Amino acid sequence: MTTTVSAAITLPTADDLRDRARAALSACGVDLSLLDPAAGPRITARTPVTGDDLFGYPGSDASDVAAAIDTAHQAYLSWRTVPAPARGALIKRFGELLTEHKADLGALIGIEVGKITAEALGEVQEMIDICDFALGLSRQLDGRTMPSERPGHRLMETWHPLGVVGVISAFNFPAAVWAWNTALAIVCGDAVVWKPSELTVLTSAACAAIFDRAAAECGAPDGLHVMVAASAADAEVLVDSPKVPVVSATGSERMGAQVAPRVAARFGRTILELGGNNAAIVTPSADLDLAVRGIVFAAAGTAGQRCTTMRRVIAHTDIADELTDRLCEVYRRLPVGDPFAEGTLVGPLIDARAHANMVAALDDAVAQGGQVLAGGARRESSDGSFYVEPAIVAMPAQTAVVQRETFAPILYVLRYSTLAEAIALHNDVPQGLSSSIFTLDQREAEQFLAADGSDCGIVNVNIGTSGAEIGGAFGGEKTTGGGRESGSDAWRGYMRRATNTINYSHDLPLAQGVNFG
Ligand code: NAD
Repeated sequence: MTTTVSAAITLPTADDLRDRARAALSACGVDLSLLDPAAGPRITARTPVTGDDLFGYPGSDASDVAAAIDTAHQAYLSWRTVPAPARGALIKRFGELLTEHKADLGALIGIEVGKITAEALGEVQEMIDICDFALGLSRQLDGRTMPSERPGHRLMETWHPLGVVGVISAFNFPAAVWAWNTALAIVCGDAVVWKPSELTVLTSAACAAIFDRAAAECGAPDGLHVMVAASAADAEVLVDSPKVPVVSATGSERMGAQVAPRVAARFGRTILELGGNNAAIVTPSADLDLAVRGIVFAAAGTAGQRCTTMRRVIAHTDIADELTDRLCEVYRRLPVGDPFAEGTLVGPLIDARAHANMVAALDDAVAQGGQVLAGGARRESSDGSFYVEPAIVAMPAQTAVVQRETFAPILYVLRYSTLAEAIALHNDVPQGLSSSIFTLDQREAEQFLAADGSDCGIVNVNIGTSGAEIGGAFGGEKTTGGGRESGSDAWRGYMRRATNTINYSHDLPLAQGVNFG
């Protein structure tokens, strides 16, 4: 059922969303009595679609977090001795259940984050894909064998689980980022304590229930994965605990700056996935049809709320006017509205603070010489929901506002004359997550991929900055934090390496030819 709440945007009712959320939670195995106010102190689950509060959910305090760490640590002590391929069987089952509940999880992501259905389902598909990857990995956690310099000796390395992995996740990928970490950590033989965003507690509860079911069916130890619906303050127990050797934290640079030094102070390991300020260079040889499509998806998709959202276009002066005109033309027609409605491409911002940040950034941009060419207005909707028209802003230079990540759909357009100038502009921001170049000139493409090209963790040619596949390692440099998750050899971040030297001779030759008496 839908009601018209404004002349501009038609939204579902909060009751309708509550019904859909209840149905999805129940299908995923969440005990609906937890939504009852009698179930304890509450975190409020809210929807950005209408701006309404939906339910309360029991929160976890600092002592709950400490207890979760202890439980998970106990589970780890037995789980680490289960052969990796048998651990993979759990992730296989988990992936099957995710496939079964794809629509339920997609609905919850739509309700709590406001993603359009295609993107919400895409997020769940990413979870399924990482399970496939991790299942294969469970038979490939390989170490190297190196030639020993000593006769009758073998030199090799083995990889072992580390313990409890603390996963802290952000609101904008409430399920996939957790799954990236969890699928790898579990096949690596670790246990997981997950502290999700306070803004996505329902999606998290559903994910945790699905994992618990897979774990129970596969006979995994209790407490192998524990979700704690804790505040950032109470999550500091996870950050500080010596029983948590790895903290994988996804969120803002501000959060990373708080978490990283604390983990480092106890010699823990971090996997940091922080903010991005991603750009595309568009050269004179670019296929502009391709560039326009790639830029619009990366810049306006998810309402600009991806870490890999394209925030800057660096266009050659020869094609800058045409490119900008074409982008503005598409931007003016972008369907903004109810994320569940067919045809919508841009859903809501997460909350009032996100909208205030967008307004402040646009004001700053204009004060710093920018000109808003398209979008930027809030569309009329319900009081508590924030639907905005994605904005394009021409900037005379890479000023302070362009240097910071504003988590909203603002695309700054800068101009360049030489590729060296473009690459210098590209790299002259604090963050280093994702990057792209649109060019049909192989020299330009190779230059961007070279050591003195893009300084980001993700470097693309002729596609936008967002929408990475799970097969590659995901993450970025500089204030993005340096972490790597998901594919390639990111699994090594969840394990410890042991170097083994085995003497099968009858002598004790020493390395470096040392003769000790
Ligand atoms: P946020 O930093 O506000 O919160 C992220 C998580 O950190 C939340 O669970 C929060 O409760 C927790 N947190 C915050 N301070 C903490 C502390 N001191 N100790 C322990 N936990 C703490 O970020 P957000 O608004 O939820 O998400 C948006 C941000 O996340 C953007 O900057 C975006 O670029 C970034 N992000 C990065 C990636 C990536 O892979 N690089 C992916 C998704 C989002």
